[in-house]
Amino acid sequence: MTLSRDTIYLAGAWTAPSSAETIPVENPATEEILGHVPAGTAADVDRAVAAARAAFTGWAETPMAERGAVLGKLHEALAARAGDIARTVGLELGTPLKVAKAVQAGLPLAVLRGYADLAAQPAREETIGNSLVVHEPVGVVGAITPWNYPLHQVVAKVAAALAAGCTVVLKPSELTPLVAYLLVDAADEAGLPPGVLNLVPGTGPVVGAAIAGHPDVDMVSFTGSTATGRAITHAAADRIARVALELGGKSANVILADADLAKAVKVGVGNAFLNSGQTCTAWTRMLVHRSHYDAAVELAATAAAAYTTGDPFDEGTRLGPLVSAAQRDRVRGFIARADARRVAGDAPVPDKGYFVAPTVFADVHPDSELAQEEVFGPVLSIIRFEDDDHAVEIANNSKYGLAGGVWGTPERALAVARRLRTGAVDVNGGSFNPLAPFGGYKQSGIGRELGPYGLAEFQQTKAIQR
Ligand code: NAD
Repeated sequence: MTLSRDTIYLAGAWTAPSSAETIPVENPATEEILGHVPAGTAADVDRAVAAARAAFTGWAETPMAERGAVLGKLHEALAARAGDIARTVGLELGTPLKVAKAVQAGLPLAVLRGYADLAAQPAREETIGNSLVVHEPVGVVGAITPWNYPLHQVVAKVAAALAAGCTVVLKPSELTPLVAYLLVDAADEAGLPPGVLNLVPGTGPVVGAAIAGHPDVDMVSFTGSTATGRAITHAAADRIARVALELGGKSANVILADADLAKAVKVGVGNAFLNSGQTCTAWTRMLVHRSHYDAAVELAATAAAAYTTGDPFDEGTRLGPLVSAAQRDRVRGFIARADARRVAGDAPVPDKGYFVAPTVFADVHPDSELAQEEVFGPVLSIIRFEDDDHAVEIANNSKYGLAGGVWGTPERALAVARRLRTGAVDVNGGSFNPLAPFGGYKQSGIGRELGPYGLAEFQQTKAIQR
């Protein structure tokens, strides 16, 4: 089976790209080439932006409820592809099939459904004195996404932008472009008006940079590394274009003295290792009160040993490969340089494929590289603290501020959660809410995605005085 695609999507039609150059897509579990996609060019971006601009006024003036109905059809067409989505992400990213079904396919479907429903509600308007305050779409949006949740990150932008009345030029990650094609297939089938959604695959420095610097792109919505977010912000600054950034994280899971230790460690390890640790919100620092510390280290090491690596399509596999050889080598570099006590990490991994054994370090210094830098692999760092103030100090000792967890009696845990300088905190394992605002403090980003806050990101605010 070849998964190759040879067209880009412009103005509602699958179209030949301007260059014959292609990008190979690799299966990181087998190191085999799954297929190829076009290597888009700046000329392709020009054509896509022109199509999005031409479609903008009509789509912006379409009543929001009608836009919601189109998103409902898109949801239906995408839901019919749920099996293909899970399989495709299993192949191009290596997510174990069970997780791929639940998260890589299930989450974007829930987010899309949420935006279809939100668009069906009356438009948000308010009166302040003699002013009527209305919200209007920002314009043409460039959406640039990474590989770790390759459909969710696309849908979080595209669904919100389309609901708001924006039109979109999408560039998925060159490592995992295939699942984005499934979304555009669904959009084509659902009858999205031509030009409302356009797809230009390609590399960051070529297609991504062309989108970020394009004079007719009104907003760039980006998810990825902090370094790239910085480059995109510089490019957009020249024309004062709006930028929304979802960047990296180094989130803390704080286990207080009165926590349910077994549950806190089990859920914490699972969170850190989800998607082989390639999760921006991963709780990669486990902060443990001294009274629980030794027990927590032992529990975490035992839990890590149960994360069997292997073929993502095997029922028994809990940990797939990392996305690429470069990512594996980067993670192994962090492990090799770590100045801490390694208590898990020797489990065998398959010879072929970009696997890293689930790894746990204890006695990690809060200022060390391991505690400060985003590893983006299955590596957990355990740090001891003395009291609640000390825990808050260590948790906030980070350039990032994306997510976190706190475990303890509800009131005390909530008090600590309020003190964490981070965009989201789960208290005692509170579950992920796809309608809640998602985004970072500090270098984890600017702006919020998901639910009504995510919609507002793609809107301008106008005051009409009467
Ligand atoms: P990356 O920054 O290398 O790439 C992300 C996207 O940006 C890709 O589509 C890439 O082609 C593009 N890109 C690269 N250089 C560019 C440039 N100069 N101009 C424009 N676009 C460019 O990140 P990645 O390696 O794909 O993803 C991993 C990183 O993303 C991690 O640091 C992770 O924490 C972060 N991330 C954050 C979130 C979040 O929601 N906060 C979600 C997922 C990933």
